[in-house]
Amino acid sequence: MVHARFLCVHGHFYQPPRGNPFNKETLVEPDAAPYQNWNERITAECYEPNARIGNFERISFNLGGTLAAWLEEHAQDTYARIVQADAGYREQHGVGNAIAQGAQHGILPLARTDDKVTQVVWGKRAFEHRFGRATQGMWLPEMAVDSETLQVLAEQGIEWTVLSESQVRGALRGAGPYWVGLPGGGRFKVFLRDERLSNDIAFNLGHFGGAGHWAREVLVPRRRDAGRLTLIATDGETFGHHWPGEEQFLHWLLTYEALSAGYEVTTLARYAQAVEPIGEIELVENTAWSCNHGLARWATGCACTPGDSSWKGALRRALDNLRHELDAVYRDFVAGVEGADPLALRNAYFEVVLGEIPREKFLETQGITLKGKQAEALLKLVAAQFYRQRMYASCTFFFAELTALTTLYGIANAAYAVKLTREATGVDSSVEFRRDLSIATARDEQSGKLVTGADVYDDLLDGLYDGQA
Ligand SMILES: [Zn+2]
Repeated sequence: MVHARFLCVHGHFYQPPRGNPFNKETLVEPDAAPYQNWNERITAECYEPNARIGNFERISFNLGGTLAAWLEEHAQDTYARIVQADAGYREQHGVGNAIAQGAQHGILPLARTDDKVTQVVWGKRAFEHRFGRATQGMWLPEMAVDSETLQVLAEQGIEWTVLSESQVRGALRGAGPYWVGLPGGGRFKVFLRDERLSNDIAFNLGHFGGAGHWAREVLVPRRRDAGRLTLIATDGETFGHHWPGEEQFLHWLLTYEALSAGYEVTTLARYAQAVEPIGEIELVENTAWSCNHGLARWATGCACTPGDSSWKGALRRALDNLRHELDAVYRDFVAGVEGADPLALRNAYFEVVLGEIPREKFLETQGITLKGKQAEALLKLVAAQFYRQRMYASCTFFFAELTALTTLYGIANAAYAVKLTREATGVDSSVEFRRDLSIATARDEQSGKLVTGADVYDDLLDGLYDGQA
């Protein structure tokens, strides 16, 4: 590395779990027209063109699990190009440019320790499954962080993550990397994204007049504060979906304009391999990149979304209560199974989700000799753990409306975990869950009527259960 200045763009490519576990048919989302659903539309606008013009070969990126699974099934060429981008980069530079992500995009600081562990273990495994190698870095959903999350990352062998400048305190000189001390001793490596540049690209990209203009007018003047490495990290969908056609911006920035402005283009993995941390910084606990109110956007509601968002706190309470109930049933059952550990079993079950182990072989691979109805019950309970974790996807709480599709999907995952648990053991949490949901109240933007989480739940069961319950 000869040049003194480095530029890295990291793209967080992600889509929420769409549809619901009750209904596996092709999803139709009318607001995505002329496409059938949002995944199709964003693929056409963003993933496909970025893959086609080689942008994945030049950026650092993570590909969320739900999106990766969808692309693998519905957009094979694009999926193959993205996976190949990492392999090609590794061939050229000795290290790949893709990194893992917390598996189900939950807000990890709001999760209990065992859920943090599962999300990180599953995120690692999903990455290995798709990219055929171990990851060095991990993207934290919404960059939401507390010390325990970093501790879990370190314990699971992850080497570094990415945060925003406002999530730390200390003497900053660009993207670092930096050390952050861990509660259990030891330290963890963190890259910091340049908030001003990243937000400029996320929110103003269509108004720059091209990559060359932006590089000269914005990037270069920022140098005096930017240290050796400048990191722009934003949603990957910025390039082509949020800003139509702007995959070209990324292409020209990284193939030409940044170079003529005196930068060497790099990736986080490549830089981490070559450069040691430049100092130690302190974490600001319970923060995220997309909320200025700590974690309130996903915990209690805050001014990040318009209107009364107090339904978020009530919904989280409903999910937390359900979580404790379903976990108790699961743990009780596993306690009666010789040699089985509830956390280890749940972590291992992800192999079934990934298709690495057939469902009917799973218990055997775990040294569990249950047969017949008991085996089926355990398989359902451990599957319920998958859905009850997914109900916590950040998207369940992200938007303003209790009636948002992403919130419906979150509640649908909860309902599916309830159904599996009832089928396995006869324990039915639906009445209490519905009662908790009825406390989450909001005004529906379209009809002006008050709706509750219980209304959303009833609609879901009416429309989507379709008598299967
Ligand atoms: Zn907020």
